[in-house]
Amino acid sequence: MRRDRSNFTLASPKKIFFHRPSGLWPKGADSGHGFNTVAIALKALRSPVSVCRNVDQKMNCTLDMIFDESPEEMAHPPLLRNNGCDGHLLDLPCQSTRCVQPGSGPRALCTLAQAVAQTGDAVAITSATGVIQFVNPSFERTTGYSSAEAVGQTFALVNSGVHLPEFFAQLWKTIARGEVFRGVLTNRRKAGDIYHEEKTITPIRDESGRISHFISTGRDVSERIFSNACLEHQANHDLLTGLPNRSLFLDRLAHAMHRASREAGIVALLFIDLDRFKSVNDSFGHDIGDRVLIKVAERLKKVVREEDSVARIGGDEFTVILEGLKSPADSGRVAAELVAAFEASLEIDGQMLEIGASIGIATYPEDGDGIDLLLRRADVAMFHAKDSGRSTYAHFSAVMEGERIEERSVATALDSALANDEFDVFYQAIVDPRDQRTVALEALLRWHSPLHGEVPASRFIPLLEAGNQILVVGKWLLATACRQIKALQRPDLAGMVVSVNLSGRQFRDRNLLSDIGEALRESGLDPRQLQLEIAEGALLEDAHAAAHTLAALKALGVRLAIDDFGIGYSSLCHLRHLPINMLKIDLSLVAELGTSADALWMVKTIIALADSLGIESTAEGVETAGQLALLSALGCSSVQGYWFHRPSPLQQLRTGWLAEKPVPRPLLRPGTGGPWA
Ligand SMILES: [Mg+2]
Repeated sequence: MRRDRSNFTLASPKKIFFHRPSGLWPKGADSGHGFNTVAIALKALRSPVSVCRNVDQKMNCTLDMIFDESPEEMAHPPLLRNNGCDGHLLDLPCQSTRCVQPGSGPRALCTLAQAVAQTGDAVAITSATGVIQFVNPSFERTTGYSSAEAVGQTFALVNSGVHLPEFFAQLWKTIARGEVFRGVLTNRRKAGDIYHEEKTITPIRDESGRISHFISTGRDVSERIFSNACLEHQANHDLLTGLPNRSLFLDRLAHAMHRASREAGIVALLFIDLDRFKSVNDSFGHDIGDRVLIKVAERLKKVVREEDSVARIGGDEFTVILEGLKSPADSGRVAAELVAAFEASLEIDGQMLEIGASIGIATYPEDGDGIDLLLRRADVAMFHAKDSGRSTYAHFSAVMEGERIEERSVATALDSALANDEFDVFYQAIVDPRDQRTVALEALLRWHSPLHGEVPASRFIPLLEAGNQILVVGKWLLATACRQIKALQRPDLAGMVVSVNLSGRQFRDRNLLSDIGEALRESGLDPRQLQLEIAEGALLEDAHAAAHTLAALKALGVRLAIDDFGIGYSSLCHLRHLPINMLKIDLSLVAELGTSADALWMVKTIIALADSLGIESTAEGVETAGQLALLSALGCSSVQGYWFHRPSPLQQLRTGWLAEKPVPRPLLRPGTGGPWA
């Protein structure tokens, strides 16, 4: 074979294994010595050759040999014998040839071959048609395919099926144009698992400028992709429930609306607020509250289709985006199913918890063409559902929006109500059911707004509680009630007990004790004539702190009642240790007395519980003779409600109800004040 230094042909760099059956070099010779002896033997070959040696940790030796010309010996690998170290040249004849630049030599190519073999990146060389001709050890490690398995195949070998055919078509277009492709591919290893490879494919041109090969280099970036994906997931999802968070929800809503506008479709936004969640959170703590939210998320996901998006956008607020609806009414069916999904109690640690869902629906484009507007209107509809008795759903309507605007106007007027002297105190008698004589008066806050007229307490008190106003107005109510009751001059009314409601905010307020002390001092009212009503829910929020506050209040000498009892989750054991004088049965239970066996059972149980604790029971909201007779028969200590009279100003009560029903026992029944009375 003619040798032409300026343009000679080489075999492509080939690894030629010198196989040692003995596994060790001859005794007394190190690997270098052994190699030298082999190298000497190789020199006996007729073809010019450059030899590079690689010795691994187990002293296995491979020789990278680059022949200046296609060696005749390669057609018939010679048996080498030297110094007891026998072996065969095991490689095959060269697979391809290429030109080297003038000035390059076999040694430089040998170095290049070593570099390619040892680089940490997975290297593969393919033909112009994409058939793999060479892979390096890193490729073998990354893919799990040996060189023998990979050579002769295409990259379809590692195709994961994740990328669409269009992706590969685009890739081929790029490299066929002679441009470099860079990108991240999702591949599959021989073992079947997926990995992400950051790949560069570079076209190699021959001396005529045609693309003869492609060289692909890549590295496994699965870890980086995974941690980026984790970070992205965390940024867009609620950590507790795993649902999309507000930011991802807004993004999805925008996409859904955009798609619907293109396709003349309908999108429904369901705004879900949980009912009674606060009570559960207050009663059992945030840990249980969190587990409730996780279960709620699971229930919501079960109801909707795979393609519908459920998100948690805050506290106990969830949203559902429904796409591809035929009419806005379709969303109502889904909402009804979502409401129904909460009919069954949630069980956590053996506790059966009653949670409901109030849902407001706004649809695009009917109810709004902007994200903010749609969200606001779904929120308005949700409030309407809450006002309609909870655990239901409502479609947005313009009337609802009018109501919300009115609500805001009421809230604004409320801001100046105290300064404008618009509040008043009305009183309702708490009556002994047996002889209908008054045993106490409950003081109730009333608001006469010049703009809105008589605003129901159920409407303005939540607004007061939403801000800090309840503290100031509550203090005013307490001082006014104490002063007015003290001013009762008639001898038979002189010791009348007045019962004043404390909101949860007031109960937790650090100035509570001083405010009560001040009201008593300034009015001169006997502390035993003041009863404070604290809602069951407020006591449950922080049971330890609540017990401490109750004890401090008790030390002032006032009476204590638990208001709206029977709808929270009081621990009976806890109740035993509280210094209370009275349980006030929630009016929702009284209202259902004649129709619900559960309500009757609850009322019976509360009366029996009060009896066993040696304290009194009062039923609120008595409106019929039947309720009165039943409560009397059950042994309820006292009752109050419209059946007797509506709350009225004290003066009116004195000339009406109190005049007709003299009060022989202004203080509550002797001997029934409980162990702490
Ligand atoms: Mg009350």
